Amino acid sequence: MSSSVAIENAFDIGQVRNLFPVLKREVKGKPLVYLDNAATTQKPQMVIDGLVAYYSGYNANIHRGIHTLAEEATAAYEQARHKAAKFIHAESTDEVIFTRGTTEGINLVASTWGRRNISNGDIVLISGMEHHSNIVPWQILIEEKGGVLEVIPVLDSGELDMDAFRRLIQHNPKLVAINHASNALGTVNPVKEITSISHDAGAVVLIDGAQSVAHLEIDVQALDVDFYSFSSHKMYGPTGVGVLYGKRNLLEAMPPYQGGGEMIKEVSFAKTTYNELPYKYEAGTPNIADVISFGLAIDFINSLGKRNIYAHEKSLLEYGTSLLKEIDGLQIIGEAQEKLGVISFIIEGIHPQDIGILLDNAGVAIRTGHHCTQPLMERFKIPGTSRASFAVYNTMGEIDVLVQGIKKAVKLLI
Ligand code: PMP
Repeated sequence: MSSSVAIENAFDIGQVRNLFPVLKREVKGKPLVYLDNAATTQKPQMVIDGLVAYYSGYNANIHRGIHTLAEEATAAYEQARHKAAKFIHAESTDEVIFTRGTTEGINLVASTWGRRNISNGDIVLISGMEHHSNIVPWQILIEEKGGVLEVIPVLDSGELDMDAFRRLIQHNPKLVAINHASNALGTVNPVKEITSISHDAGAVVLIDGAQSVAHLEIDVQALDVDFYSFSSHKMYGPTGVGVLYGKRNLLEAMPPYQGGGEMIKEVSFAKTTYNELPYKYEAGTPNIADVISFGLAIDFINSLGKRNIYAHEKSLLEYGTSLLKEIDGLQIIGEAQEKLGVISFIIEGIHPQDIGILLDNAGVAIRTGHHCTQPLMERFKIPGTSRASFAVYNTMGEIDVLVQGIKKAVKLLI
């Protein structure tokens, strides 16, 4: 494992920041304060270098070539699969399918497992805090197959209503699909408990891990989830790559997702047989360079240690929450007990977009709007929020800049 940051229990934040070239830039004449990490994280130099190294050193198509470049590219691509499998503690690399990202992983399950297993009247149970990418694929599926969508309500605290969940599970859904952590609220859902209850009721469980993998230790075997989908770009890796983890027995039984090269064993006009896992679900030339660099992003996270990352982000969350709460008229949306480094807030009388624009003038990047969770915004009867979300390279000083920027905006706008 390449490790440019040797860290035991804590890390040197300056050293970490130095690995991210973009953090050195200015925005509107001010040092960049990047607090839009739930949308996408910045990339360390080693991840950027990985792309250049592939294209300038061993660019070749994988799996089919016998020449040196093809062998090197194939080895690097498959090494990334090993790293990803280890990262989430999958039993086998066969259960790790490279996708374009969380969204594609969920759509893959909807159009393969879903089309085969959901039929008239079958229930898909999701939660009220899902990202659109864990709502719409199921709506497309049930529209085609005649299924029913049911929704676990969200409490005022931003936590799932687990009593309601226990009632809804008695309707015997075929599938339970929820996020591990909410991008809009930061809430961490009790995935292990939900999975165990769902399995007792005979349901298959899919977890949207887009927001959790960069922050929490993930052990898909201990969680016992059936599917787990996540994106590289939210964990310091490149865009255009993600992983769908699936249990072997489910992946083997499902029909293929896309047809084409690589996913076949033998093709004739009379009959085609499909390739083994995981290649059965990876039709066509994959995103080789980005997959390889995704592996380097995993190395980066491992070099710091997830526990250290979590502890650092937790202290940013606590510090930010306490300062923001002192601002008159500011309300934090989502105050779950178990929460990641996300602070969503509204300020009475101010549109979130105005806050976003004024903060950008101060060099501070946050996200405003509905965060692709329109039903959740409707639940809280708000059009959207302003959201600051933290990553390993953020500092307490940056939170001070955020808070000063918000105070200034409030003075200007009210
Ligand atoms: N689910 C959640 C909870 C997310 O935050 C996101 C990204 N905002 C997604 C799914 C979709 O991820 P991607 O766009 O990388 O496919």
